[in-house]
Amino acid sequence: MWTNWSGGQRCQPSATVRPLDEAGVRAAVRRAAARGQRIRPVGAGGSFSPLAVAEEVALDLSALTGLVRVGGGRVRVRAGTSVGELAGMLAQRQLALACVCDVDTPTVAGAVSTGTHGSMSRTGSVSAQVTGLRMVEGSGAALEVPPDEMDAARTALGALGVITEVELAVRPEFVLRMSQARMPLDQVLSGDYLDAHRWAEFSVFPYATDALARWADEVTDHPAPPSAMRAQQRRLVRSAAVGGGVALGRTVPRLVPAINRAATRLNGSGSATDLAHRVLLARPVVRWEESEWALPRAALADGVRELLAAISERELDVGFPLEVRVGPAEPGWLHPAYGRNTGWVAVHTAAGVDPEPMTQLASEVLGAHAGRPHWGKRHPWTISELAPAYPKLDDFLALRDRRDPDRVFTNPHLDTLLGP
Ligand SMILES: Cc1cc2nc3c(=O)[nH]c(=O)nc-3n(C[C@H](O)[C@H](O)[C@H](O)COP(=O)(O)OP(=O)(O)OC[C@H]3O[C@@H](n4cnc5c(N)ncnc54)[C@H](O)[C@@H]3O)c2cc1C
Repeated sequence: MWTNWSGGQRCQPSATVRPLDEAGVRAAVRRAAARGQRIRPVGAGGSFSPLAVAEEVALDLSALTGLVRVGGGRVRVRAGTSVGELAGMLAQRQLALACVCDVDTPTVAGAVSTGTHGSMSRTGSVSAQVTGLRMVEGSGAALEVPPDEMDAARTALGALGVITEVELAVRPEFVLRMSQARMPLDQVLSGDYLDAHRWAEFSVFPYATDALARWADEVTDHPAPPSAMRAQQRRLVRSAAVGGGVALGRTVPRLVPAINRAATRLNGSGSATDLAHRVLLARPVVRWEESEWALPRAALADGVRELLAAISERELDVGFPLEVRVGPAEPGWLHPAYGRNTGWVAVHTAAGVDPEPMTQLASEVLGAHAGRPHWGKRHPWTISELAPAYPKLDDFLALRDRRDPDRVFTNPHLDTLLGP
């Protein structure tokens, strides 16, 4: 039985294939196509939506890892390499991705395919950093994605083929100083806060007037890696902020004093200074379900206020704060931030609580502000909502007809999103 990270998606594929190289991927796709079976590429299972659910053949890419080459401002890695492994390999060479995620477990191909983003108002998602992709299409043939197909392929939800290699732009490594503080909601919602820093986000509980703001700026200081104990404290503080102190307290009550102490200390010292991927990383200590929406940047403040009011009005049981982030317009045709500066709003539900009321409410309130859902998170959208929201959808579907005419790569969820 396969389950995703949250435990909310499950399937029992009739077969799981774990190829060791691209030739193995091609053989697996050809075999599935010849038998009339569907085959689904599966990464780390970090998506909350059923995107990676494989009812027939699951294509496990966990053996396709490692560096292919690095140089000339580019790195090429195999598809199953995790975002964290990539950051580590780049750091050994004093390099980094410009986009820093706060999660290290997704595979590079999965992060690219779902448009995984951080919170930098001027730096695009992992998929925006892609400069080259190698893919196995529905016939089983491998190809380098041509430039005129790149913006379709960079956020393709696994619908165009199996990515075997990803090439990304890199930059010299950089050091961030991260700070956090309580701030009034009005202040953190203003452009002065969210757009003024290299990286900035905030979280806010319904009923609260203050938010917990976290921001980071590039500095020329030397990195100051934390001690093991301090790293654990940072992890707890970030998890409490991102993942919900209340839920964490409910699940592991004995940790609450430690979280509070660590939070106070971090606030007291005011900042943490380290290599970007180390300072932003927040490996969770509890699990949750999540829905996240990409709003036009100008609609963010109204969207957040209305959602907070709606949650309070309906008295939904919320153990987690809303998480609010920003990003620039994205080039990926199906990226939720395609063509517009974006404010991201995420809602979380503790494991064991029905996520549907919160997902539906976020869809109603944020959808009314022209929000588009993150494909890797929970949402109720089908092709009827997608069609008016994505101006390049028809071009994407035409390319899908060429790269996967027999729909070798689909699953029921993808059928509802893109049509059969
Ligand atoms: C704790 C946690 C924190 C998160 N934080 C963030 C965040 O800060 N920002 C954010 O944007 N998202 C975040 N996410 C969502 C997450 O990053 C991605 O949606 C997801 O993890 C993608 O990577 P994966 O390897 O897990 O892919 P999976 O979930 O396994 O698959 C996702 C999709 O990619 C496709 N795919 C996978 N590999 C390939 C391949 N080789 N070729 C073609 N298609 C492929 C699958 O078919 C599927 O459609 C978070 C998730 C978790 C669990």
